[in-house]
Amino acid sequence: MIEITFLGTGCMQPTKNRNHSAIVLSYGKENILLDCGEGTQRQMRIAGIKPAKITRIFLSHWHGDHVFGLPGLLSTAGADKPDTIIHIYGPKGTKKFLENINTWFAAKELANYEAHEITAGKFYEGEEFFLHAEILKHSTPCLGFSFIEKDKHKINVAQAAKLGLSGPILGQLQQGQEVTVKGKKIKAAEVTYLVPGKKVSYIADTVPCEGAERLAQQADVLISEGTHLDEIKEKTEKFMHLTVKQAALIASENNAKRLVITHLSQRYKTPSEVLTEAKEYFPDSVVAEDFMKIKV
Ligand SMILES: [Zn+2]
Ligand SMILES: [Zn+2]
Repeated sequence: MIEITFLGTGCMQPTKNRNHSAIVLSYGKENILLDCGEGTQRQMRIAGIKPAKITRIFLSHWHGDHVFGLPGLLSTAGADKPDTIIHIYGPKGTKKFLENINTWFAAKELANYEAHEITAGKFYEGEEFFLHAEILKHSTPCLGFSFIEKDKHKINVAQAAKLGLSGPILGQLQQGQEVTVKGKKIKAAEVTYLVPGKKVSYIADTVPCEGAERLAQQADVLISEGTHLDEIKEKTEKFMHLTVKQAALIASENNAKRLVITHLSQRYKTPSEVLTEAKEYFPDSVVAEDFMKIKV
């Protein structure tokens, strides 16, 4: 199961209710942090997520509202568990920015990390999932992110019992292997069924673009920035962001299943008008709140 925890859902300036951008996607032992705005480690403490448990950090871009929490988080993660290697992924320039963090602060023990400068395409593949990036259009190099779970074969328990199958053989069948029991060959397809993997995508700061559309395609959960309502579209475009309407249209035109709007301007004191605009163009929308959790 994928669990998404929203740690920060505001944009330029934090408010009483919304911290700077940060989201944790948890899956098994993986805790992937998507952006790390100022104050993220305190938000993690409140949410009950330990900094040392972060396995990967995906940085969409190097604007302060997405990265100012990084020196503190790396410092705390280093003090807690210096052996852990955190893989940090970001656009071109990420290695240099991280080197600067190392030299600018008198930090005692930054976490061990490995920096990866990535571009569009698959940038990590594990046994159960892969990670994919798309190029977005913002005022500095910016990337979007997809977590894509692999399809799984599950055992049809009733069918397995009928054939008298149990023990390690079930594991082999689940991996798609053919087995022989009492001289009889049994194909995986006879006792398993396919459970399609889930896709969770994150559209960070951008104007509408093809990369954003690809991230949205068939996403089970699409997390997208929606900085302003469409009524001030010109201002939104000037700062190279999406309006809530644009985010909702990207979700609907690309067959996403659920939309979560985040990165809200401080001008919106309550989420109601944002939610109304999102739902007008994409009914299955919610507005993210700090500490909101979603299970996929
Ligand atoms: Zn931003
Ligand atoms: Zn930005």
